Amino acid sequence: MKEPRALPAPGPLPDEQGALFLWVRRGIPLVAAALAFAGAALHGAGRGWWMLAGVGALATAWPSFLRKEAFLRNRTAVMRQDSLWAHALRPLAHWLGQEDAWILSFCGHNNQRVREAFSGLRAKRVLILLPHCIQMARCKAPILDDLQACYDCLCPVGDYMNGALMNRWEGRIFNRSHKAYREAREYRPDLIVAVSCSDRLLKGLTKLPEIPVYAISLSLPHGMCVDTDFSVPHLLAAMETLVEPRRPVGEIQPLHRAGIA
Ligand code: SF4
Repeated sequence: MKEPRALPAPGPLPDEQGALFLWVRRGIPLVAAALAFAGAALHGAGRGWWMLAGVGALATAWPSFLRKEAFLRNRTAVMRQDSLWAHALRPLAHWLGQEDAWILSFCGHNNQRVREAFSGLRAKRVLILLPHCIQMARCKAPILDDLQACYDCLCPVGDYMNGALMNRWEGRIFNRSHKAYREAREYRPDLIVAVSCSDRLLKGLTKLPEIPVYAISLSLPHGMCVDTDFSVPHLLAAMETLVEPRRPVGEIQPLHRAGIA
């Protein structure tokens, strides 16, 4: 077993950038409801239909107000609806050249609600999901079979390995999204902390609406899927803020090897 290297103390979690998604997600139905009720007031004929449309628009906006326990209780339905909005407006965002900003805003809004939900009672059973493309393309260390095969040299895998050893994190590095979804469903965590590109984060939040996910986006300095990078301090801060510590006092334990994809 490797001797873990201490990582710098995590700072606070960065602010989430979810305002764009929230304004669109909540704003469109609220404006539609206001127009429908105005229509009902101005047009006597068909007033019932106007009222019905207004109530329907309010019902559409309602899930965007759910927070904390209410959000966790209704999470599957809330995330299904939010995902529909994210997917429906993605082509428009793409046309405007704001596709990434739109998806990351959806993730930021989700993160904000997950943070609120776990601000009082931290998650106990947590699964970290990382994409294989954070390993340098030229590195031959077989980290998918054994994370401790990593030499802790050049890429974020080394920092992650040390964090996992030191804190007894349960995590998977995966090379196929469907494997990550299957692992997540089988492990049944209270919370997933997922690192991925914006496209895969949207897909993951859509595919796993039943599990709260804190999403951290990859940066792609060399393009998609090659030598990608992410903020390890962000991951450390998320684990420190949202998750109940598992660190044993005066004792470091090895990773559960069979658990690493
Ligand atoms: S830290 Fe080094 S050995 Fe570990 S995966 Fe990255 S490049 Fe390979």
